[in-house]
Amino acid sequence: MELLDGRALANELTHAQQTAVKTLKVQGVTPKLVVIMVGDDPASAIYTQSKQKRATKIGMASELKRLSAETTEAELLALVKTLNDDRTVDGILVQLPLPKQINEDHVIQAIDAKKDVDGFSPVNIGQLWLNQPGLVACTPNGIMRLLAAHKIDVAGKNVVIVGRSNIVGRPLAALMLNANATVTIAHSRTANLKALTKTADILVAAIGKPHFFGVDAVKEGAVVIDVGINRLEDGSVTGDVDFEALQTHVSAMTPVPRGVGPMTITMLMEQTIEIAKERVKRG
Ligand code: NDP
Repeated sequence: MELLDGRALANELTHAQQTAVKTLKVQGVTPKLVVIMVGDDPASAIYTQSKQKRATKIGMASELKRLSAETTEAELLALVKTLNDDRTVDGILVQLPLPKQINEDHVIQAIDAKKDVDGFSPVNIGQLWLNQPGLVACTPNGIMRLLAAHKIDVAGKNVVIVGRSNIVGRPLAALMLNANATVTIAHSRTANLKALTKTADILVAAIGKPHFFGVDAVKEGAVVIDVGINRLEDGSVTGDVDFEALQTHVSAMTPVPRGVGPMTITMLMEQTIEIAKERVKRG
């Protein structure tokens, strides 16, 4: 079985990003990412810290705006507007979830589509489904890059994606379709799920249920992408597929951790750098 090692590829890309940032700085532009976090959700705090850390590692400017849990929607929208108007800011990311007094859709829509490094805005989602250039959600983007790096061509393949969230399943389906795969999206209401997943040449598991997919649900020789991040009672992290059981059954598979996860932040940095390159072109 070929291990689709996301950490190894992420490390490689991080080196290339360090070089790209150095070049941009010589050209007078320091790529800048601003992350907004509202409230003090512990998981969000960990995610935002790792984004900050990575940005600093590659030499980018990064700023964390921490707002109190009582922040109003109007206050957050005003901050987003300020950042939209700030020429030195390339990427804006609002860490989700937001407190209940704030409508997430309103906030995502308010981010300038050209700075929407998460690729969640309706403009970018629309461009993605129209197969036009735009900013793309980082986890699906990372999955496509990982497959490409391992020379796994998705064209003509039967791809089954289990999970239809706006951050993983839906944008990934569009990317796969754009790359000429035949795509099926499954979810909690799908009938005979395991019979369906067993038909997949490439199976993407993104449901958040530990070890849900075993040998009975996967075709022999399939490629398996495990997006799930599940924390077990003993504190360890595991994916949605039974890695142990599938090792001798599939042709290629991502581990968890060190598979899809490291690629997500790497794609975030890459998109921020690409936006900064546009700033250089504009002068
Ligand atoms: P969501 O909770 O938003 O979506 C889960 C999806 O899985 C839904 O579409 C749901 O169906 C479907 N689902 C849940 N249970 C079943 C089931 N028993 N059978 C079939 N479908 C099911 O999750 P996310 O997309 O945000 O995340 C999914 C997983 O990926 C999580 O473990 C998350 O931690 C991880 N993740 C990892 C990332 C990474 O960087 N590696 C990034 C983002 C997420 P329905 O729509 O019908 O409810």
